[in-house]
Amino acid sequence: MLKLENCSLKDKHTFHMEAKARYWVEFESIDDLCDILRHQTFKGIPMLSVGGGSNLLFTADFPGLLLHSRLRTIELIREEAQSVLVRVGSGVVWDDFVAYAVDKGWSGVENLSGIPGEVGASPVQNIGAYGAEVKDTIALVEALNLETLQMQRFSNADCQFGYRDSIFKHILKNHFVVCYVTYRLSTILNANIRYGDMDRRIREKGGITLQNIRDAVLEIRSEKLPDPSVTGNAGSFFMNPEIQAEQYQRLKKSWPEMPGWALANGRIKVSAAWCIDQAGWKGRSLGNAAVHDRQALVLVNSGNATAADIMALSDRIIHDVKAKFDINLHPEVLFV
Ligand SMILES: Cc1cc2nc3c(=O)[nH]c(=O)nc-3n(C[C@H](O)[C@H](O)[C@H](O)COP(=O)(O)OP(=O)(O)OC[C@H]3O[C@@H](n4cnc5c(N)ncnc54)[C@H](O)[C@@H]3O)c2cc1C
Repeated sequence: MLKLENCSLKDKHTFHMEAKARYWVEFESIDDLCDILRHQTFKGIPMLSVGGGSNLLFTADFPGLLLHSRLRTIELIREEAQSVLVRVGSGVVWDDFVAYAVDKGWSGVENLSGIPGEVGASPVQNIGAYGAEVKDTIALVEALNLETLQMQRFSNADCQFGYRDSIFKHILKNHFVVCYVTYRLSTILNANIRYGDMDRRIREKGGITLQNIRDAVLEIRSEKLPDPSVTGNAGSFFMNPEIQAEQYQRLKKSWPEMPGWALANGRIKVSAAWCIDQAGWKGRSLGNAAVHDRQALVLVNSGNATAADIMALSDRIIHDVKAKFDINLHPEVLFV
């Protein structure tokens, strides 16, 4: 177990602003975690699980306990006719797990290559990219209940997955620490390469293989997204908004090129990046915060930004998109 007091968070989240946590504790086992939670020092103070900090914005010092998992095992627990069940510790770096699965020839997470962060956050966020969502591979989540200190098992249906959403962001928010996630991956390659120019890139690499899909995704990501170790950011700052079909039809009259995807619930998902770009924000700065010049969904720390700079920029963008399209943008990033 590692326990730090008044811990700097600068290197523990990808926006890289200075903030301090009263306590930062890393646990190596579930027993370790229970010991921490029983400890008198931590009774009655705020608690939050932090993985790679790649979807967080610390708006102030954190007055309580930040919990970080060091459960780092990957176990093959069952082989089925055409799939495998793999149980992964919440502290495994997400992309290390993807690389491992690709190397083993297990399909299902290759389109999610290169997403920063750790396995524990993957069901919380229902991470997604390039036409795939992790919910389609999750068989089981094992998490510790912070009140009872009992482990609880959540089936895929129990997790109530939605777009970048799960039960762990709502009624169970901050009540559970995810310890293990079991993924069901296919031993047959189910390639999902319809997104953008993935198809072309994969053909250029010699055809459809898991490794070529992974390499194409990593290539596209490196061209479009800023590297958080160089430029502080938390990926997509806003979620793609859903609007009524009637509003979308009205907007299309003024902006025929406005992208939109019909959803099963009859609503239309529109591109937040397109709206931000049209509102004139792509590549623009406000103080020390800026909108990335290649991906308008990404807000970046241009050097010495404070959380207040990022929030001011976010507020201005939300205001301008609302004024132009009557569309409400909601941050995907968690303000702590
Ligand atoms: C450059 C960049 C690109 C990105 N691209 C994508 C993308 O393509 N698709 C995508 O979906 N996301 C993307 N993201 C966002 C981010 O990587 C994901 O949301 C990721 O899952 C966050 O993982 P993390 O470990 O950093 O979680 P954190 O940011 O540390 O935490 C995120 C949330 O999960 C909770 N949490 C973390 N660990 C646990 C745990 N063990 N138990 C319970 N709760 C926990 C936290 O409390 C918080 O609510 C990107 C981010 C960056 C910086």
